[in-house]
Amino acid sequence: MSSVYVITGPSGVGKGTLIRALRGQIPNLELSTSATTRAPRAGEEPGVDYHFLDPDEFERRVEAGDFLEHATYSGNRYGTLRSEVDARLARDVPVVLEIEVQGARQIRESMPEAVQIFIAPPSPEALRERLHGRGTDHPEVIDSRLGVAVEELAARGEFPHSIVNDDVDRAAAELAEIVRDCER
Ligand code: ADP
Ligand code: 5GP
Repeated sequence: MSSVYVITGPSGVGKGTLIRALRGQIPNLELSTSATTRAPRAGEEPGVDYHFLDPDEFERRVEAGDFLEHATYSGNRYGTLRSEVDARLARDVPVVLEIEVQGARQIRESMPEAVQIFIAPPSPEALRERLHGRGTDHPEVIDSRLGVAVEELAARGEFPHSIVNDDVDRAAAELAEIVRDCER
């Protein structure tokens, strides 16, 4: 049986970075492309980074039952389309969801067999520095994300696995170890 891996944690903690490293080590893992109502950032490609939907289309798809989970995060909606996950599981391909904490809680209810991994920063200051250093968001957007992060960090104990992303190579190795153990 193939598996679903939920990677969660605050914005800027390095989820995307660690998933890239993980997929370098375990190439058969595929990443679910989420839907969002937020505007594309420079360089983001529709259908690759996200399915960019306008709010009406997002709501229509919520009502149609197309989402496995969905949440409002920092003023925008985000969700995992069932089709992204089902198509992979049908091919027996393990799938990674990179989602925020509210979505992870919904998956915990609807798919208790999914492996849930929380990524934590070495310190709150590191999170702030990484969000600024990434250079993708306006300062007010960063402040909003850091506000949400306070609650997200308090949820760490809910997760069976948590990894401190201090050093990318070390943390990616720990993540790969968890996935290899589950795939055995
Ligand atoms: P997320 O996907 O959780 O929002 P990203 O993967 O985009 O986070 O990482 C946010 C920023 O932090 C990026 O600029 C990334 O290069 C940097 N980063 C990620 N991991 C580390 C680390 N262990 N040490 C220092 N910087 C990191
Ligand atoms: P960003 O705007 O930085 O791409 O994403 C903001 C937050 O939304 C991140 O914590 C990211 O993990 C989360 N996110 C991305 N896709 C989804 C999704 O499909 N569902 C949920 N619940 N959160 C998501």
